[in-house]
Amino acid sequence: MKAFQFVEWQKPAELREVEVPEPGPGQVLIKIGGAGACHSDLHIMEAPADTPLPLPFTLGHENAGWVEELGAGATGFAVGDPVLVYGPWGCGTCGNCRVGMENYCQDPGQNKPGGLGRDGGMADYMVVPSTRFLIPLGTLDPREAAPLSDAALTSYHAVKRSTHLLGPGSTAVVIGAGGLGQMAIQVLKALSAAATVVAVDTSPAKLETAKTMGADEALVSGDDAVQRVKDITRGQGANLVLDMVGAKPTLEMAAQISRVLGHVTIVGLGGGALPVNFHSPAKECSVASPYWGSIPELMEVVSLAQAGKIRMLVEQFPLERAGEAYHLLHDGEIKGRAVITPNG
Ligand code: NAD
Ligand code: ZN
Repeated sequence: MKAFQFVEWQKPAELREVEVPEPGPGQVLIKIGGAGACHSDLHIMEAPADTPLPLPFTLGHENAGWVEELGAGATGFAVGDPVLVYGPWGCGTCGNCRVGMENYCQDPGQNKPGGLGRDGGMADYMVVPSTRFLIPLGTLDPREAAPLSDAALTSYHAVKRSTHLLGPGSTAVVIGAGGLGQMAIQVLKALSAAATVVAVDTSPAKLETAKTMGADEALVSGDDAVQRVKDITRGQGANLVLDMVGAKPTLEMAAQISRVLGHVTIVGLGGGALPVNFHSPAKECSVASPYWGSIPELMEVVSLAQAGKIRMLVEQFPLERAGEAYHLLHDGEIKGRAVITPNG
């Protein structure tokens, strides 16, 4: 089969011929419907040559497909079942894994997700190490649903931890309205309907999309946006700032629009740093950097999608065009999420 693989750091990924993997005991072979192209992969493509991940590996950490083959002893699913793949594979036995937070597995050697150090979904097939990482999709199409497992789950977790701040009269600002940001806007509307949702981006096209996803205000990134958020919040600042970029200018903005007792949540890996001292961000504002989400949260995300409350704007690309999809993502030309569809 063909697989889109990282072969060498700081070199473009390549389409290579590899063996179809075999599921070992307890494992499952998935026929891939869709594998989302996440901006994190672009960060990895620029990672230094001494990055401690074994090469080569197949890209794609946001996957959905159909059960193709169950390894010995794997139960609970039947061949042909449409499934979403939970990405951060932990040990399954530590305290965090036991409550479904395998994104925070306490065994540092264990958590190496498919597509981020092990073979992922940009291939006809991938092996998932356990059925506990499979969420039934029901009537959802794996080619459309793949982004639920990262773009939606990461945004969902980042919003959910702050919903107690988002009652009537509150404001949430989403900086960066790409794949993750568009999901965050919809999740905010679904979980915290009373909050005013403000989208900020450098791209006018993304801001138009953000409005169609439910943003109450859409602002071009910059000083005017800072002032506008201050005006909307009567000088108080936003209760929640979700920074889906994490670069120097966006973190500076996040600090400027933070509110006393608010949350600044850094989701983007844009390489910036947020200076924290007594005066900034605002007093008793909490800063967090969440990574992905839990298995129970992914089940909630699937329920939201099944109810039609969140929907990703998906552009499908065959495996042969995976490289082009990443170029378009790099250039800001993907409207929502690019999804690679190896099996058509
Ligand atoms: P994307 O390319 O789809 O979206 C990024 C958006 O940010 C684009 O719309 C772009 O126009 C906008 N943007 C860029 N610079 C900006 C600026 N200065 N001000 C405002 N907007 C700006 O990317 P994505 O796939 O949604 O990923 C977003 C970030 O989240 C990436 O850094 C990615 O690595 C990270 N990520 C983190 C996690 C996690 O678990 N924390 C999970 C997935 C992705
Ligand atoms: Zn990702």
